[in-house]
Amino acid sequence: MIKKLIASFLCIFALLGMIPPAAASDNIQAKRSEIIITVNGARIPFRAYDVNGRTCVDLFEVALALSGSENQFALGWIEKNKSLHLIRGMPYAAIGLNLTRGIARNETATPADISVLLDGDRISIAAYKIKSDVYFDLRGVAGALDFSVEWRPLDNLIGIDTSLSFTESAVVRSVDPDRPMVAITFDDGPSNFTPAVLDILEQYGVVATFYVAGSRVANNSDIVLRAFNAGNEIASHAWSHRMLTRLSEGSIRTELENTNNVVESVTGVPPSNMRPPYGSINGRVRKVTAELGLPIIYWSIDPADWRTRNADTTYSRVMDSIKDRDIVLLHDLSAPTVEAVSRIIPELIDRGYQLVTVSELLEHSGAAPVPGATYRSGAM
Ligand code: ZN
Repeated sequence: MIKKLIASFLCIFALLGMIPPAAASDNIQAKRSEIIITVNGARIPFRAYDVNGRTCVDLFEVALALSGSENQFALGWIEKNKSLHLIRGMPYAAIGLNLTRGIARNETATPADISVLLDGDRISIAAYKIKSDVYFDLRGVAGALDFSVEWRPLDNLIGIDTSLSFTESAVVRSVDPDRPMVAITFDDGPSNFTPAVLDILEQYGVVATFYVAGSRVANNSDIVLRAFNAGNEIASHAWSHRMLTRLSEGSIRTELENTNNVVESVTGVPPSNMRPPYGSINGRVRKVTAELGLPIIYWSIDPADWRTRNADTTYSRVMDSIKDRDIVLLHDLSAPTVEAVSRIIPELIDRGYQLVTVSELLEHSGAAPVPGATYRSGAM
């Protein structure tokens, strides 16, 4: 059976042609999707369209991205049957693929009239013809090939995990702009204390922002990925925790670019804002952060947890002054901070605060944050 499938697949090479024209009816609006797709944490440059509320992707790109994973498949087009064959268990292979095709912002989609066969069995996946290509509903593809998809509209992100069988989950953390909100932030990690902080956040179903030191990320990538996958924001605290104001413009750029790169290599997404070590900035820091697209984030509450190392002090300094749109500065570096967090979070929830990431706080606080500009809270 398998041999026959492979043989039939090999025949496909001779028969491959272009995807056929669709029936020219039912014109539907197709909007280029700005969503970022990650596969097992790695950012993949998928081209995708939103059609009828569905995220539709190019199957060639899905096959390429999954090649080497448990869900790998090859594909081929049989022109005479107008059928697309997906063969599971084979590494990526496709003929006639032209990756230089452009993708326009707005197009017209028409339902595509082609049959899709998976290991010889006909399956049903919604498909749309957009220009000369066919795009397939990602949900349908995930169901057929049995990988999980997580939709994170707030982060503009779709995460594909090939190690999990098909589940479709949506992390929909809707933020109500009319209710009070605060952003808890943790600097200088990841460290041995970060998992305990993540346990608490997950216990209460809330999120925070981690200003990671780039130099610590590679050796703690599992912690960073866990934090990211739970919906936390991973932001930049530069690479080596040196005072940026003492560095040349070139060194500042290296500190920030290296941190962006290592975070992106783990989570698939680079940081969208930064916090300078020691809160220290000057004209050079502002210039480089502006060029790299990074707003500079300070804080409105600083209990100095790293200095007191006292859970009671940290707890009371935060809870005595907390107000709507505050950004709280903590450090995931010590047991007393972990203990304080275990009391602060339920108390904030009890008082009616939404716990949001810094990006969410800024997004719901008026104008879009400006790279190179400084922010101390969401109260603008
Ligand atoms: Zn720091």
